[in-house]
Amino acid sequence: MIIIDGKQVSSDLRKELKAAVEACMQKTKSVPGLAVIIVGQDPASQVYVRNKAKNCKETGMNSTVIELPEETSQSELLAKLEKLNNDPDVHGILVQQPLPRHIDEYAVTMAISPSKDVDGFHPENVGQMVLGNLDRCFISCTPYGILELLSRYSIDTKGKHCVVVGRSNIVGKPMANLMLQKLKSTNCTVTVCHSATRNMPELTRQADILIAAIGQANFITKDMVKPGAVVIDVGINRVEDSSRKSGYRLAGDVDYEHVSEVASAITPVPGGVGPMTIAMLLKNTLQSFMRAHSIQAL
Ligand code: NDP
Repeated sequence: MIIIDGKQVSSDLRKELKAAVEACMQKTKSVPGLAVIIVGQDPASQVYVRNKAKNCKETGMNSTVIELPEETSQSELLAKLEKLNNDPDVHGILVQQPLPRHIDEYAVTMAISPSKDVDGFHPENVGQMVLGNLDRCFISCTPYGILELLSRYSIDTKGKHCVVVGRSNIVGKPMANLMLQKLKSTNCTVTVCHSATRNMPELTRQADILIAAIGQANFITKDMVKPGAVVIDVGINRVEDSSRKSGYRLAGDVDYEHVSEVASAITPVPGGVGPMTIAMLLKNTLQSFMRAHSIQAL
């Protein structure tokens, strides 16, 4: 059984990106830049944002964190985005979710220029991705990270049955769409399950590649997995654990302990898909910079 080590892959990728950023800077005498906006004081969001900025700097890119107060109006936020859209030193823009209730997330997504939407949430990027025009879009970071893991572990996907559990706009739907496409680490027959799916275990047991993005700890049990399947666990759930100082531990959507007895390969939580998400955000930011400077390849 192979443990798919996202921590290691993301560290390798960040090293490669650092070298690529350096090469780009020598070529253009300018630096890729990411702007991250956070509205309000949500502690978890503040940790995510700080992490993104730190990773960005370590790769040699510029990162600006714009902290706005909770009471920022939607029009103020949109005006800020317009400024960033027109700033040639900013190649990637990200607005940390969740936003305060008085701000419409859709309006915010639409206000980010698709050419700087490194989260890959803008309908233009989603549409190009669905059409298979991957060189003209940004792929949303978590599914993109999963493709990278499948590719780096040389997982044979062609013609395999991939079952995706979850149909959210940021994970399940783009993941299922990508696995359907004719690419090196995709080209699958795809089934998507969700909360209205009947006989889910019957479907998951058919999966050669099972991707769980549900948000419920240990939902996928051993009896739901075909022996030899590759299991990708996207879930990040807090489970009470009085033995920990924090009072909780992180668990995936997959019952790792038992499913790993039958899977041929599996991602752990933490240390699987999670670390890949930020690495792919950096990759998208560099990609945006390269497009802005008409650099095809390094
Ligand atoms: P959402 O809550 O947006 O979507 C969950 C999906 O799972 C929905 O489509 C829902 O179905 C489906 N679902 C929920 N319960 C069941 C059930 N009992 N049976 C079948 N389907 C079910 O979550 P996200 O996609 O945003 O995230 C999923 C998980 O991945 C979370 O744990 C999240 O923390 C984690 N995550 C991890 C990331 C990473 O970097 N590793 C990044 C993003 C998310 P329906 O549509 O019918 O409601």
